Amino acid sequence: MEFSEFADRVAAVEAETADLEITSLVAGLFADAGDDLPVVVRLLLGRIVPAWDGTTLDVGPQLCHTALARAAGPNVTADDVADRLAETGDIGAVAESLETGGQRGLAAFGAADPDPLTVADVDDRLRALASADGSGSQDRKVDTLFGLFNRADPLATRYLARLVLSEMRIGVGEGTVRDAIAEAFDVPVDAVENALQVTNDYGAVAVRARDEGKAGLADVALTVGRPVRAMLAQTGTADDALDAWAAVAVETKFDGARVQVHHDPDGETAVYSRNMADVTDALPEIVEFVQDAVDVPVILDGEALAVDDDGDPLPFQAVLRRFRRKHDVARMREEVAIELRAFDCLHADGTDLLDTPLRDRRDHLESVLPTGVSPLTITADPDTVAARETEALAADHEGIMLKNPDSAYTPGKRGQNWLKRKPEVETLDLVVTGAEWGEGRRANHLGTFLLSARNDAPDGDDFVTIGKVATGISDERLAELSDLLEPLIQHQDGTEVTLDPAVVFEVGYEEIQASPTYGSGYALRFPRFVAVREDKRPADADSLSRIERLAGE
Ligand code: ATP
Repeated sequence: MEFSEFADRVAAVEAETADLEITSLVAGLFADAGDDLPVVVRLLLGRIVPAWDGTTLDVGPQLCHTALARAAGPNVTADDVADRLAETGDIGAVAESLETGGQRGLAAFGAADPDPLTVADVDDRLRALASADGSGSQDRKVDTLFGLFNRADPLATRYLARLVLSEMRIGVGEGTVRDAIAEAFDVPVDAVENALQVTNDYGAVAVRARDEGKAGLADVALTVGRPVRAMLAQTGTADDALDAWAAVAVETKFDGARVQVHHDPDGETAVYSRNMADVTDALPEIVEFVQDAVDVPVILDGEALAVDDDGDPLPFQAVLRRFRRKHDVARMREEVAIELRAFDCLHADGTDLLDTPLRDRRDHLESVLPTGVSPLTITADPDTVAARETEALAADHEGIMLKNPDSAYTPGKRGQNWLKRKPEVETLDLVVTGAEWGEGRRANHLGTFLLSARNDAPDGDDFVTIGKVATGISDERLAELSDLLEPLIQHQDGTEVTLDPAVVFEVGYEEIQASPTYGSGYALRFPRFVAVREDKRPADADSLSRIERLAGE
């Protein structure tokens, strides 16, 4: 498929407002995509690789602006692109309005392009760009993007620019793609959903739905080495649990970072974060531990916990010092020791266990892993639950988890079968969308940070502001935060900067109040910085509807 045709069809989707009509247009696009189906599905979601693959394009706004300016000719600079972006707020509209090479060249003379840009070309180039690494890689990335922009017509340029900055913004989310796959290939939505949960690969699932139908979708299996979305928990109490289920499985809630360990005794061992990022290199002791202990292929779910010399838990911040670290891993390993507390088993020795009840998954877990398993009590007695909670808190753990012993493992779902209970005041995980330069001795650092919640309302901006945080941050930490956030600056106005939404802060607060000051309609009283949630993406930040609930509305 030519990329310009893809762009035309995407523009029709973007222009449509009725949900059912959007799904039909997307279904039509899938039905016509032929061999390009997997790529078309991914591009529509703004992705170049399946969700389980942690590869990212790593193209920041500056790089994209430079490539666009170069394609637009000598009269346009990267700053011009940034200025226009500040006016319109949509890189797609800016890109479309620039006369890039393709528009100044053949098309201007009415000639057909003998070598039109195809969807497959875009896929190839962007994949090459994603793997560009090392010295000179930034220049090569600009060259690649320039090459693409140079060959694209205006509408294609619009979607290319949005694609490389991972902001398609066409009103097509994962749910629409799922429904469109079902509609295009006449398979049940549930069958598509189940296959997506297992594979995390929208492109592959679309192909399977088309080529093998419902039976093919039912046949998908987990692959050791490909991460699965983590099952999540809601807050809840022992009463909630015992009202809903005949018995409750109680576990310690460890204050660490979620890890999924994929181990093949004849192959690799890999560790993934809650967001399916590969953190294997940062956590060698988990790799060594599992390699020593497990002799069959497994997928384990658990928590990486930082412990002191006596094996007692250290606070969550200690784990974050180890998580995702690329350098000095050996030295940091001496400073902060990490241990695995495995609490679930998704696959053991050739058998997928997602549909197996928790109590039986736990039997598998204990049989494959002799130590390092989080202790579990199954009970119907509220006093036993209370005793487990007291015990967990006395041992400095975060709280307890209450799970339905008969429930399946539902990847990516924050369902009712896992409840978390922790006593301390809740913190919020919010996206940093802006900042202000400090004053006096802090003038070289960003000092005050603008926080936003994820907007889960059907329309409006992706993030809505809710407050600013400037307290709770040491000078040393401030310098680190500046280093982290400065590359994300999109636009500066006086001392205020707008940031690409990429970093998530955990923030404490006294109260949430209704307030017209911020876009969310709420403001935090006495917000204080707690930590950078390196394990979370903006899509995992707290949502506006959660804020509404917490505010008591
Ligand atoms: P929180 O900030 O409360 O950890 P979260 O948004 O990171 O919340 P939730 O799904 O809401 O994630 O809470 C469950 C998290 O608790 C899991 O992701 C996991 O990291 C952690 N956890 C600790 N111990 C357990 C356990 N025994 N079973 C399941 N999850 C556990």
